[in-house]
Amino acid sequence: MKVLWAPWRMEYIESLDGGGEQHGCFLCHYRDTPDDAAQRVVHRADHTFVVMNKYPYTNGHLLIAPLEHKAELEDLSDAEFAQLWSMTRTAKGLLDRVLEPHGYNIGINIGRCAGAGLPGHLHVHIVPRWNGDTNFMAVLGDVRVIPQALDKLHRMLVAAWPETDSPENPA
Ligand SMILES: [Zn+2]
Repeated sequence: MKVLWAPWRMEYIESLDGGGEQHGCFLCHYRDTPDDAAQRVVHRADHTFVVMNKYPYTNGHLLIAPLEHKAELEDLSDAEFAQLWSMTRTAKGLLDRVLEPHGYNIGINIGRCAGAGLPGHLHVHIVPRWNGDTNFMAVLGDVRVIPQALDKLHRMLVAAWPETDSPENPA
């Protein structure tokens, strides 16, 4: 994965100072906050939920996480594990339709040495990619537009989430 120009992530990086730990778990905070628009939660299911990354590497960067605060794949129940990946598939299809990216990076960082900013709460990253997107934000320029852009995209993604979510709830 090429290094992306993502200056708005400075706010996130600066939030990591003071020992390198964030206070609390932002995924548990999103999970427990009923205002999905404010937290940019795209979808909730019985074992997992989908939320937009507040500090995205690219437009449409989503996180899929178990509802429970669990760090390791081995900690997940079979139902949680299955839904983590079926939800990843559904979310990827959602981005296909809404943003039409040229490609994706999809994966999990386990452990701080592997780049996990939040080692305690497992989550799958879906990072849409476009040809030439290493220059994407330099063109957009003003980082202050990002929160508004994220709110607009959140509304689009919620509206486009499939009505029947059977693929993420295998019988
Ligand atoms: Zn958590």
